Amino acid sequence: MENLEDKFRDHKFVCPGCKGKLDYSNDLFSCPQCKNSWPLVEGLADFRVSKDKYWGEHPEEEIDRLILRCKQVGWSQALRDFFTVSDPEYYDSIIDKMRANWHFLVPLDKDARILDAGCGWGPLSFELASVYKEVIAFDITMQRLRFIDLRRVSEDLNNLTPVCGQVNHLPFPDGHFDLVIFNGILEWIPVMESKINPYLAQLQALKEAARVLKKSGYLYLAIENRWSVINFLGFKDAHSHLRFAPLLPRFLADIYSRVVRKKDFREYTHTYWQQEKILKEAGFSETKFYSPLPAYRRFQFILPLNRVSRTKFFVRHLFRPRDNLQVFFSRIIRLPFVLNLTKYFVPDFSIFAKK
Ligand SMILES: [Zn+2]
Repeated sequence: MENLEDKFRDHKFVCPGCKGKLDYSNDLFSCPQCKNSWPLVEGLADFRVSKDKYWGEHPEEEIDRLILRCKQVGWSQALRDFFTVSDPEYYDSIIDKMRANWHFLVPLDKDARILDAGCGWGPLSFELASVYKEVIAFDITMQRLRFIDLRRVSEDLNNLTPVCGQVNHLPFPDGHFDLVIFNGILEWIPVMESKINPYLAQLQALKEAARVLKKSGYLYLAIENRWSVINFLGFKDAHSHLRFAPLLPRFLADIYSRVVRKKDFREYTHTYWQQEKILKEAGFSETKFYSPLPAYRRFQFILPLNRVSRTKFFVRHLFRPRDNLQVFFSRIIRLPFVLNLTKYFVPDFSIFAKK
């Protein structure tokens, strides 16, 4: 059993509000300025600013049961028993080692310090902790961090630390990380931070990422493209489940959403230009766009979007159409005029933004 006083004595946490240094004693972090405090809950630091809502795709009681089961039979078997029947794709997404392979594209040393912000069940955190010196798995859902902690102990990964909190209120000092990861979370930020304008909520989160990054550190941002060909074809939006909603002007999407879902449209995705703009506004100096294919949640290829010749090579030699519709598509995409436009219509973006 680890001694928590020892583990957190030399902590680097700051106040999620005022960013001042926190005091630590008796399993409690406290801010001398704000007079707020944050507890250690069974060894995990809990820096959530608002704790009213459970966040997850599955009901809270079920996930509580899963965690209990992990303690009894081990994480691996418990996870398999729990998801392979009810949600096999979800299970794969938790244990898929390929999902972090984009990290070869970031110039990082082995002693890099990484923040996996909104880490979910931690597939990227585990992969990166096996390569780099220090990884923080950061999420708003305590149960997932509990799972990561159990798996971390069983895999003997002492350089991986699960921390609970909100991305818009990071408890880390300025210039602390070499890499910050936003993998499929930016679009959900406005839903979590429901009291402010969706765009401003996302801008705030990106500014927090820039703040905790070292000079010349990188943000890895994976998100769906607002102008994805999938949206134009009328498939349901992955977040709001509303067809065509991302393509509409925001105010129209909002009306549409209020009529159909009885709530605001807050799950903002962005076009190529908008994404570039918001990153600049948040303080990033340089952006490189890639397209993870078929999607960032599970990709086999990651295609650089800055040179048409790469896209051409992919369409000619790597893409294997599986049906007539895909054959048709690959023929269309080969036309030079269309080829020049593909980067604006790819399904997802993987973006490396340098501070
Ligand atoms: Zn404070």
